[in-house]
Amino acid sequence: MTKSPQDTRSAPCNQCLRDTNHLIKWEEHKPWKEILDEEFGHSIDGGNTYTLLECAGCNQVRLLHTHWFSEDSDDRGHPCIYRDYYPPTVTRQKPLWRRTLLPFHMVVVNELNPLFDEIYSAHAAGAFALATMGIRALTEKIMVEQVGDKGTFAKTIEAFFAKGFIAPIQQEHFRSVLVEAGHAAMHRSFRPAREDVETLLDLVEGLVDAIYYQPLRASAVGQKLPPDTRPKPSPRTPPQ
Ligand SMILES: [Zn+2]
Repeated sequence: MTKSPQDTRSAPCNQCLRDTNHLIKWEEHKPWKEILDEEFGHSIDGGNTYTLLECAGCNQVRLLHTHWFSEDSDDRGHPCIYRDYYPPTVTRQKPLWRRTLLPFHMVVVNELNPLFDEIYSAHAAGAFALATMGIRALTEKIMVEQVGDKGTFAKTIEAFFAKGFIAPIQQEHFRSVLVEAGHAAMHRSFRPAREDVETLLDLVEGLVDAIYYQPLRASAVGQKLPPDTRPKPSPRTPPQ
């Protein structure tokens, strides 16, 4: 059914990154019931509600699926009500440098960004182990792109360090956190929490910014600087 324009509800907005007032553009309820035993009157039931919401601030539109099931209840016996948004609710804003217009030759960054987007989607959907594995894959892709595949992961990391991409003070964090977390999620049943993934994203976003985007911004500043016209000091005559 189509709702009248004044029907609103508060909901999280992916653009505004907070709860905002949303217009309910359309909503449909789909209750269901299943008789398990007609003689004793045993049955189970549940419901699905589909709601099309539009943020009153930025006009982003999302679908909300609200659902419940009579056999899934809380400690007081009330059915648990679940709310799933499509696309999922974003809890982390993409870095501002993602809006930078890249030169044509930097095609590699355009290949990294789709993987970044899948990591953000996994993070938003609560798939934290998957996001952690994605961050490790992304880190490996960056290293191989910069120093080539050295045969083993350990040798590729060493070559990456040797080229100075990671400051000596950060190398231990890089190795023990960024790389090891992904390995532990894959092979040692590590179940990272949301804040763990956010820390890893901070690290890998900083790495991508430092390698690909900061040089572009620094070069743009350099081109704006007026030429240095101060007289150059004459070379010293070595003492006789
Ligand atoms: Zn909004």
